[in-house]
Amino acid sequence: MRDFTKSKQAFVESSQLMPGGVNSPVRAFKNVGGDPLFIDHGKGSHIYDIDGNDYIDYVMSWGPLILGHADDKVVADLQAAVTKGTSYGAPTLLESQLAKMVQKIVPSIEMMRMVSSGTEATMSAIRLARGYTHRDKIVKFIGNYHGHSDSLLVDAGSGLATFNITKSPGVPEALAYDTLTVAYNDEAAIKDVFAAHGDEIACVIVEPVAGNMGVVPAKKSFLQTLRQVTSEHGALLIFDEVMTGFRAAFHGAQALYGITPDLTTLGKVVGGGLPVGVFGGRRDIMHKITPDGPIYHAGTLSGNPLAMTGGISTIQQLNEDLYTAMDKKVTRLMAGIAAAAKQYQVPIVTHHVGTMWSYFFNEHDVENFADVQQSDQAYFAKFYKALLQEGIYTAPSQFETNFISTKHTDAEIDQTIAAFERAFAAVSQ
Ligand code: PLP
Repeated sequence: MRDFTKSKQAFVESSQLMPGGVNSPVRAFKNVGGDPLFIDHGKGSHIYDIDGNDYIDYVMSWGPLILGHADDKVVADLQAAVTKGTSYGAPTLLESQLAKMVQKIVPSIEMMRMVSSGTEATMSAIRLARGYTHRDKIVKFIGNYHGHSDSLLVDAGSGLATFNITKSPGVPEALAYDTLTVAYNDEAAIKDVFAAHGDEIACVIVEPVAGNMGVVPAKKSFLQTLRQVTSEHGALLIFDEVMTGFRAAFHGAQALYGITPDLTTLGKVVGGGLPVGVFGGRRDIMHKITPDGPIYHAGTLSGNPLAMTGGISTIQQLNEDLYTAMDKKVTRLMAGIAAAAKQYQVPIVTHHVGTMWSYFFNEHDVENFADVQQSDQAYFAKFYKALLQEGIYTAPSQFETNFISTKHTDAEIDQTIAAFERAFAAVSQ
């Protein structure tokens, strides 16, 4: 058995200092029971906790670390950058360098603003959509998560789904009233909403592959319907690619599906493990942002030179071939996990898109949040702990996504499949 004594002690202390002992709720392991691990360091595909336990990591900081932990070049570039200062509050060449890279990889982003988190990116995109269209209502999908700004904290995925919170106290009724929520992948429902409110809707925001209720891919016809109804009604289509950007595919989910949104939000990989978010899109819309236009957006640390360096150094190292290789590994992993579950007669649904993967203990396929909720949470919690004992670190909730990096080897995929087999055996006893 692995010894977690030091992590347990650290959690007692942090619980006196921070609500739930953590700075972001899903880290708290509340859904699976037990205490969170306190991490000392990471290298490549591995993390090491403060008790000295070693794990193959599939959380990857919840997505950003596509090159794994402490990539040699990223570390060297950051070390060089920090000697020049940490922040100036004035433009740098680094901001344009990262912006040009983003524009080349995601061409629908003709202009953009850098921010410091995914939450800031989606919040700013929503304000821009409302300001541009002079309309207040927005549409989001049940089980999609777009960060923790007020308008978007309604029927959201991720931690809210994990902890069964449909609407956070503190979100003013008036704001929630303007957020219309619809079932994911439901084309009839979105048409109905537009038939009823079409001329009041500023935008539809969607995770083009949902990753905050586990991985739930959108049907192509669903995204096509969104493109069509928004265009017909003068509303904007926002693809929230904070998770799927550089993850679902090198060029993002919009390239995978061949659908061009008006605005896109990015986060996670675009900062390579440092705090970066991006919102951008059509040039005519982006020109409405201050100081070109009247819609306000600002940030003391936006475009921070260290954060830009993290993004540049990471994206510079990415290419299509790496994605093909990662996809192949995840495909094999999913087949191995499904086979292991079958061996122990455990109903399972595995989903993956590019470098994102998850599984549901469910007898039926999963295409929206109601389906995800039918999954066996109690089994997931037991299974999670067994996996941890086997040295596999995955997201501590069925409503989250796991990720691989370029550093995960074929041998580690084999090791992981073997660990899943042993975990099924342990839980099935
Ligand atoms: N949008 C999506 C799709 C996300 O997955 C997340 C975070 O997981 C966010 C927005 C919020 O990003 P951040 O946690 O950086 O604020």
